[in-house]
Amino acid sequence: MPFLSLGLLPTFAQAASALGYVEPTPIQVQSIPVILTGADVLGSAQTGSGKTVAFALPLLQRLQSLPTENRHQYGRAVRSLIVVPTRELAAQVGDVVRSLSQALTPPPKVVVATGGVSINPQMMALRGGADVLVATPGRLLDLAGQNAVQLATVRLLVLDEADRLLDLGFADELAKVLTLLPPRRQSLFFSATFPEGVRELATRMLRDPVHVTVEATELHEPEIAQRAIAVDANQRTQLLRHLIKDQGWKRVLVFVATKYTAELVAEKLYKAKVFATAFHGDLSQGARKQVLAEFKDEQWEVVITTDLASRGIDIAKLPVVVNYDLPRSAVDYVHRIGRTGRAGESGLAVSFVSADTEAHFHLIEKRQGLSLPLEHIAGFEPTEVATPIVAQAAPDNGGIKGKRPSKKDKLRAAAALAKPT
Ligand code: AMP
Repeated sequence: MPFLSLGLLPTFAQAASALGYVEPTPIQVQSIPVILTGADVLGSAQTGSGKTVAFALPLLQRLQSLPTENRHQYGRAVRSLIVVPTRELAAQVGDVVRSLSQALTPPPKVVVATGGVSINPQMMALRGGADVLVATPGRLLDLAGQNAVQLATVRLLVLDEADRLLDLGFADELAKVLTLLPPRRQSLFFSATFPEGVRELATRMLRDPVHVTVEATELHEPEIAQRAIAVDANQRTQLLRHLIKDQGWKRVLVFVATKYTAELVAEKLYKAKVFATAFHGDLSQGARKQVLAEFKDEQWEVVITTDLASRGIDIAKLPVVVNYDLPRSAVDYVHRIGRTGRAGESGLAVSFVSADTEAHFHLIEKRQGLSLPLEHIAGFEPTEVATPIVAQAAPDNGGIKGKRPSKKDKLRAAAALAKPT
C-alpha cells in the first residue's frame, strides 16, 4: 500500500519515499488517515514500529492547512508540541521531523529543547515561535516559566512514550504542561504499555480518541533471535569478550544494571583490545551525543549502557543486544531487545543468566510467553548453583516468590553437595 493512499498530499508522501520508506508500517497505515481528519488518537505501539513517522508526517500536513497565529501578537507561539521522555528521543524525533520537512516550502521551523544543555540557545531559537517544538517536560516548563515559549497557541499535541514519561516521574510536570495548553487542540497519545496511570492520563488528555493498536509482534519480534546463556556472574565479562571475537559481532549494545558496572565492563573490555565505551546518565549531554554518533559510525564495537538506552534510541542496523545484567521487568526486556531487529532488520538478543538470576529470568520468560533453552558455552560452563540454601531449607514451598527451587535447582543442589571438595 503506498503512502499516497493514506490521504497524504504528494509532497508528504514523497517526503516518506525520500527517506527510503517503500510502504507504510501497520501503525502508519492505521494512524495517518485518522490524524489527518483532526481526531485525537490513542496509540498503542511498541518501539520500532515506525510510530514517529506515523505522527510526524500527518502533523506536518495538518500544520500546513491550519491558520498561522499573528506573529506580532504571539511572538513565541508554538503551533505543535511533541513531548518525549528523554533527550535522546527528543533529538531523534527532531531529526525525523526535520528530514520529513526538507521538501516543504516554506520549511517549518523545528526546535528541540531538552535539559542537560544551556537554556539560552533554546530561548533564542524560540524567538519568533516555532512550528514544531520537541521537548522534555522539565525544560519545557523552565522555558514556559521564563516566558520563552507561548503554549496557548498549540494546535497539535503529541505525547510520545507516555508510559516512560510516567516511569521517569514526570506526572506532575505533565499535569502542569496540560494546564498551559488550550482546550481546543488535537492530541495524539502514544504508549507501549497501558498501566492505570497511563490510562488516567490518556483520559484526561484526549477527547473521543480513535484507538490505534499494533501488536508487539507484528513488525519486529519475529526478526529478533533470542538466546539465554548460563554463566557464572564473575565470568560474564570474559564470556562477552569471547562471544564478540568468536561470533564476529561488530556492534553490540550491552545492558548492565548500574553506571558503575557500565564503566567497569567498558574499561575491562577496552584493556582487552575491544573498542568498548560506557553510555549512561552521568555523561554530559555532549558526551552522550558523541558516543551515539560514534557508535552509529561504527567507531565503537561495544557500548555498555544502563536502561537509559533501552528506549527511544534508534541505531540503524544494530545487530546484537546483550543483557549482561537482566532487566528488572518483562516490559524493560521488550524495550531492550527492541534496540535490535529494527525496521525489518534481523537481530540477536542474548541474555546472561547466572545462578542468582535464573528464577528472575524464568519470570521474564513466563510474562513473555517464552521458553528459551539455557545454553552452555564451552569453557564458560557455570559452576554456581541456583539458591541451594533455599532448596534445602524450604524444599516444598520455597517461601520467597520467584525463588522456589525448580526441579533443575534441586538436581543442581544435589550435584553440588555430591561434588568432592
Ligand atoms: P520508530 O518506531 O519511530 O522508532 O521507528 C523505528 C524505525 O523504523 C526507524 O529506524 C525508522 O526509520 C523506521 N521506519 C519508519 N517508517 C518506516 C517505513 N515505512 N518503512 C521502513 N522503515 C520505517
